[in-house]
Parts: sequence; structure tokens; C-alpha cells
Amino acid sequence: MIRILILGGTGDAAQLAARLATIQGVEAITSLAGRTREPSVPLGDLRVGGFGGVAGLANYLEVIQIDLLIDATHPFASQISWNAVDAATKVGIPHLMLIRPPWQKVSGDRWIEVDSVAAAATALQNQAQRVFLTVGRQELAAFAHLKDIWFLMRTIDPPAADALVPPGMLLCDRGPFTLNNESEILIHHNIDTIVSKNSGGDATYAKIIAARELDVKVVMVNRPAIPPANYVTNIDDALAWVLENG
Ligand code: NAP
Repeated sequence: MIRILILGGTGDAAQLAARLATIQGVEAITSLAGRTREPSVPLGDLRVGGFGGVAGLANYLEVIQIDLLIDATHPFASQISWNAVDAATKVGIPHLMLIRPPWQKVSGDRWIEVDSVAAAATALQNQAQRVFLTVGRQELAAFAHLKDIWFLMRTIDPPAADALVPPGMLLCDRGPFTLNNESEILIHHNIDTIVSKNSGGDATYAKIIAARELDVKVVMVNRPAIPPANYVTNIDDALAWVLENG
């Protein structure tokens, strides 16, 4: 029996868990941070909540006797990814990152690329009036000082009652989103600029296509650095790695 810990919180992690559940002799446990109130529950075993830094994760790997660690977290969840590399090294087990390729700018895209969410807020100043903000609930405070801009904020869960949020309207929804849905939002709310993380993948790409078609600007937040590690960009390659290393 091979026991695998998947660090999750993404559609890719859920798909990987579903594929691993079909392989005999493999037991996969998905770990979620516990940020989302009603997360999609992956197939296989599940644990929820932080480990307590590198030491806590290394301890978990040893106690639960994990053979392989797969980090399938979101490209912007960088703390857990660095922790995972350190913990796997400490315990001496194989580690893999499953990380989807970033979106690439194509002809017709009006992207303004920035390196942080704070820089995205700066880029909006005096440039945007009606913004579709899709960077997640945890990042809303970075835009709260922009009182002259109207924001449509899409998040999975609503922000806490005492959270700092910019002026505008909240839209609670969870992807994947269709091109029709995204175009309708841009037109209905008269959006001139989208703010997005460069998450990659298909589930949230429709807003980028809609922006291209409707000539809407996109402030695109580039990804943080990833740790030096073995990595693959798709689930088939992750499964091949499991079979090689298990
Ligand atoms: P982060 O900054 O990298 O992690 C902060 C802390 O949260 C980690 O040190 C760890 O706590 C805990 N943590 C994160 N992911 C975990 C997991 N899968 N299982 C157990 N503990 C986890 O992460 P984040 O940006 O807050 O994202 C949290 C989760 O949301 C991630 O799992 C990610 O896949 C998902 N997500 C993030 C984004 C995003 O834009 N950041 C978007 C979509 C989904 P300890 O140090 O106590 O172990």
C-alpha cells in the first residue's frame, strides 16, 4: 500500500484524488487549509486545517506514514509549497508539485502585468472606474483605500463582517465559469478593468477571453516564485510519477 498526501484546495487536487482513488494499492489523503466554509469534498480521505509550519507537516508525514507528498495547491499559495519542500526533505520522502502553466497573453489582450496584489491596487489608481475584482476574499483589504472606484467583488464565501473591503458589490460564486456568464457580468456592470491572479487552468479563464472580446483591461498579478522541486503540469504526469516512485 502506498500512502499519498495531496496538499489540495484546487480543482486539480480534487481530480488527482479522484484518479488515485481508482488505483489499487494507493491510499490518498487530501489536505485542505480550511479557508472555504463548504469546500468541494474530494474522493478519498480528507483532513482539514494547518499543520503548524514545517515542523508540524514533517511530524504529520512521519506519524501518518506518508510515502509520497504531492503539492497540488494553488500557484499563489506559496507558503505551504515552501513548507512542503522542507518537510519532505526533512522526512526523506519524494515530493512533487502539480502546478498548471500560467496563462499567456495573446493578441487582443490588454494586460497590465504586476507582481503583487498591492501593485494591482496601485495600477488601478486614476486608470479604472468600474472593476471586476477576482483575487479572492483574503485580498480585498488591499483595495479598500480606493474610494473613487466601484468594485464588483467575486468570492466563494463572503468576507467577515468586520473585514476591510472596497466600495461596491459582492458576488458570491464558485467556478468553473462560462464565457456567457463572464461576458454578461462585464456588460451588465459596465466593467472597464478586471483584476485577476494568473492562476492558469480552464476553470476561470473565461473572464480573460471575455475581456479580450469586449476590449476590457486586465490587471494580471504574476505568480510568486515557486520552490526548487520536481514538478509536473498535468494529472497524467502526476500519476506517472506516483507509479515510478511508489
Ligand atoms: P499559504 O499562504 O501558502 O498557506 C498559509 C498556511 O495555510 C500554511 O502555512 C498552512 O498552515 C496552511 N495551508 C495552506 N494550504 C494548506 C493545505 N492544503 N492543507 C493544510 N494547510 C494548508 O496558502 P493560502 O494562499 O492561504 O491558500 C490556502 C489554501 O487555499 C491552499 O490550500 C490553496 O490551494 C487554496 N487556494 C488558494 C488560493 C490563493 O489565491 N492563494 C486560490 C485558490 C485556492 P501551517 O503552516 O499551519 O501548516
